[in-house]
Amino acid sequence: VKPIKLIYVTLAIGFSVAAIWYIEARSAFRKKFMSTCIEKIEDLVNLLPKTTQEIEKRTQLYLEQAQEDLNTIIGVPTQMRNFENTMLPIDRLVGFSNAKVWGQVLGLYEQTHPDKEIRTAAHNGLIRIKTFFNDQFIGNKTIFKALMDYDAIKHEKDILDEEQTYVTQEFIDDFLRSGISLPEHIFSKICILRQEIDELLLAFERTISEDNSFLQLNDHELQGIDSKWIAHLKRDDTGACIVGIDYPTYQTIMDNCSVEATRKKLYFLFSNRGYPANDVILRKIIAKRHEIAVLIGFDSYAHLDLDSQMAKTPAIVERFLLELISRSALKEERELALWCGSLPEGATYSADKKIKLWDLAYIRNNCKKRRLQIDEYELCKYFPLENTLQKFLDIYRSFMHIEFEELFCEGLWHKDVRMLAVYNQCRTEILGYIFLDLHPRENKYSHAACFPLIPAIYCDELLSERIPAVVAVVANLAPPQLNDPSLLMLSEVKTLFHEFGHALHSVLGATHMSVLSGTSVKCDFVEMPSQLLEEWLWDEEILTKISCHYKTGAPLPYRLIKKITASKHFDSGSFVQRQACLALYSLNLFNGITDPQELEKDLHCKYRDAFDYEPNVHFYASFGHLTGYGAKYYSYLWSKVFALDLFGEIKRYGLYDRNIGQRYVQEVLAFGGSRDPNKLVENFLGRPPEQSAFLIDLGLTTQQHIE
Ligand SMILES: [Zn+2]
Repeated sequence: VKPIKLIYVTLAIGFSVAAIWYIEARSAFRKKFMSTCIEKIEDLVNLLPKTTQEIEKRTQLYLEQAQEDLNTIIGVPTQMRNFENTMLPIDRLVGFSNAKVWGQVLGLYEQTHPDKEIRTAAHNGLIRIKTFFNDQFIGNKTIFKALMDYDAIKHEKDILDEEQTYVTQEFIDDFLRSGISLPEHIFSKICILRQEIDELLLAFERTISEDNSFLQLNDHELQGIDSKWIAHLKRDDTGACIVGIDYPTYQTIMDNCSVEATRKKLYFLFSNRGYPANDVILRKIIAKRHEIAVLIGFDSYAHLDLDSQMAKTPAIVERFLLELISRSALKEERELALWCGSLPEGATYSADKKIKLWDLAYIRNNCKKRRLQIDEYELCKYFPLENTLQKFLDIYRSFMHIEFEELFCEGLWHKDVRMLAVYNQCRTEILGYIFLDLHPRENKYSHAACFPLIPAIYCDELLSERIPAVVAVVANLAPPQLNDPSLLMLSEVKTLFHEFGHALHSVLGATHMSVLSGTSVKCDFVEMPSQLLEEWLWDEEILTKISCHYKTGAPLPYRLIKKITASKHFDSGSFVQRQACLALYSLNLFNGITDPQELEKDLHCKYRDAFDYEPNVHFYASFGHLTGYGAKYYSYLWSKVFALDLFGEIKRYGLYDRNIGQRYVQEVLAFGGSRDPNKLVENFLGRPPEQSAFLIDLGLTTQQHIE
């Protein structure tokens, strides 16, 4: 045999062995992560349970698998520990295992499934999964020891890259913040409290989504509202209209109804959603969170909650918020003076000359119509959902170099739910799947949110093969009516942009470590990509491209576009005041043991004095962010500073510009949570981040004027 032939034969054998290894490794990996590796539509449909029995069975199976994985990690001898047998399996268990993803699916189902029995089974399954991870992972001293053993010898064993170093340190910090190094009797108390809190949080959210309160109103009580809109309302036996408290209905009536009694009734119903049940639950959550924080050695839960964030401490956040309040105070004062210059029919001041809370939206909308001649009814005709959605996808196609395809299949949780596949530009690879559940219905999550189900990862186990993300966008956009399609108000178009910002962050932010993928960033950075995309809405060219009259097909006339862009600062002072007050509320609620009602009153008197205080309103009972965001509602304003700074840079090149879009994806989104956000932003901008773009955008520069 000639030597050259021998080389070919050896190479061929080498390739064959590698190929066989890869095929076997891939099949073993897919078998192990049976519900998390999505390859085809059937896998997606199979991810979703169909019966309560299936929920129970799969919960049991996945928990048994998770327990086995845990035992394997613990069983590695100390001196043998390395990244592959310790950190990688820990990451997979906590971020990518069947049990973890199953918990995400059950969380979505508890909030959105139309069938009560499924919601209850999902709730029970989710509690079991949370209990497992509380007891067997974050509360497990043996697993913490495994982690610390590895940390002690990691430098002899491995050369870690930046992401691996970061994830190891994040895990250690999370364990320490959970109190694991405390004496056993204190730590076991913390574990019990944590479990109780998890159950209370789920109960709080569920109370809100299952609040189906409604009013019965006669036609004369709905004056000021478009007759076509009224025609789509359901009626009871007496002929009265049934008016629910979903967002589209609430907003339409509060903005337009000239009958004060109607606005007042609906305001009370809406602002007391979840009350009184959630008042009781929230007080328990506050007390238990505080107890945990103090046991761990923090002054309050707010201190504990912020310790891992960009902002670090409540004092820094408070300073940030108070400065914003002070900078926007004059702007709000001028706005209110303008809006109330002449009160519209059906609105009056309270006895002490203050604005009543149920009049605010009505007065503002009236002024908008009068001064800017912007009529939301007219505008929404240019934003039929279908066209708007397709135009959005076109923007992302050209800006982010991705492709979309709508997939049709049976077996999702409701007939309204749709599914998009996201590909790379040449369609050779699926990057992720996005479920869309966009319209309100009974017992459904009442806000808008993106539920990440499966993280996008590069599998180190399979030569960095990319596993696609799966996310669900849940919203409550105006439903189709009679013969008309779903027509979106500008605020709803903005919501869609916002939630797509989250969804695409999940899809494009594939990392090697599943716990750092996509939106798994610091909470006070997570609203950056979503609020960045909202800014597209204020661009004249974009508005022309995404609008299309649902009957004539015409884009928004230029005069209307001008009015929309001119209205950007119309209520920015009030917006900042309101957001900053809510952020102060969430911060202070958890900065000790606080009475939710007293705090509401206190902040109202300090910062909302232009409005009449109403003691019988309990907005906190439906303030869902108090569960997921805890003390961190400031994250919206904090993230917006970065969003506007980045937007300024992107705008210099253009909102369709492929190069800057690609840089944004590669230098920011693609890293998910695997880098310090400050570094990502600084790298993209070529300078440290600044607040000025944010203030200018809000119209809060030194020369304040109303536009
Ligand atoms: Zn968001």
